[in-house]
Amino acid sequence: MRPVEPKRRDRLPLRIDDPRVSERVQRFPESVIREMTRIADLHHAVNLAQGFPDFEPPPEVVAAAQAAIGSGGNQYSVTWGTPGLRRAIADKARSFNGIDADPESNVVVTCGATEAMMAAMLAIVNPGDEVIVTEPFYENYGPDAVVSGAVVRTVPLGGADWSLDEERLKAAVSSKTRAIVVNTPNNPSGRVFTRTELGLLADLCVDHDLVAVTDEIYEHIVFDGRRHLSLATLPGMSERTITIDGMSKTYSATGWRVGWAIGPATLAAAMRRAHDFLTVCAPHAFQVAAEVALGLPASYYAELAAGYQKKRDRFVEGIRRAGLRCRSPEGAYYVLADFSEFPFADDWEFAMALVERLGVASVPGSSFYSNPEDGARFVRFAFPKKEATLDDALSRLEGLDALRAG
Ligand code: GLN
Repeated sequence: MRPVEPKRRDRLPLRIDDPRVSERVQRFPESVIREMTRIADLHHAVNLAQGFPDFEPPPEVVAAAQAAIGSGGNQYSVTWGTPGLRRAIADKARSFNGIDADPESNVVVTCGATEAMMAAMLAIVNPGDEVIVTEPFYENYGPDAVVSGAVVRTVPLGGADWSLDEERLKAAVSSKTRAIVVNTPNNPSGRVFTRTELGLLADLCVDHDLVAVTDEIYEHIVFDGRRHLSLATLPGMSERTITIDGMSKTYSATGWRVGWAIGPATLAAAMRRAHDFLTVCAPHAFQVAAEVALGLPASYYAELAAGYQKKRDRFVEGIRRAGLRCRSPEGAYYVLADFSEFPFADDWEFAMALVERLGVASVPGSSFYSNPEDGARFVRFAFPKKEATLDDALSRLEGLDALRAG
């Protein structure tokens, strides 16, 4: 993945002008997603850039966190997670995903799925090893690779429907390939991989002895009757898959930083070492609350998916009306919108016009691609917002017509 020099004056430059800064950190810029949140605040814009809800977690989960802060949840927990939370994670993995996990040896609780992905890479990658990532991809995977010393090989999802192509997948494998990162439901494309696509990934991993690291953080946000399927449950995959998940998206608690990974005992042990020296443990009180969250009834998840489907329908219809083209997402809570009918040179120009002139923040599409030009006609909108927020954003986007003149 090649680092890209930011084009705009108000962006921080890629190189930090100080010889004491490591080459490692010089190789990745400020996160574009977080940066757009900063720019949204500057312009008092509706922030549809960074993917986080503008509503609260379930009240019983909030109450559990408050209670835990008042009684005993304020010191370190066991490094790899409280026994209660690890049990709850294993129970839910069994009942929902069909993954058989022993809380003592297969589960690692981390500071969000973000740390889980970093710890997984540090645990399995030697410098120079190659890691395959499908594209468009969530921007964290690039810096994760840089920090762990991995070289990323991207596999573009193809066609109008971002499907996974067997030949392209096979072409990305070399003798140095060590792992593949799989993110379904996918951020930013909204794809939910089919069983056939997951079968291709599983065959590749088994044939080439690869580890799959799956980011399943959007597993409960799937639409139109789809079912999330965990790669770890396909034949031959349980012993070679690290399944990553967390509180953030399912329970609307992105700021709590509670995530986890489930993997074979040896890889979980390796991740526990990386995690211990990165962060020691996830916030203890929020782990206690996570245990309560994981015990919510099945109806909670059905309502979550149905609620997001409604938001998706409202938002997709609205942006199409405003003149943007997009594929309706099958899962997760993002829309990649194609603005090529508008006279803008690239995604940055368009995203900045949206935020400065209409007061709506999005993420420039190039940040999801290794070759920025491939994403230059897209911006990503996040829709985990109250109906009123979405309506506000959509009415601002009605001003898009005025931007046709450039
Ligand atoms: N996953 C979310 C996104 O893509 C939030 C990313 C983050 O800022 N950690 O927007």
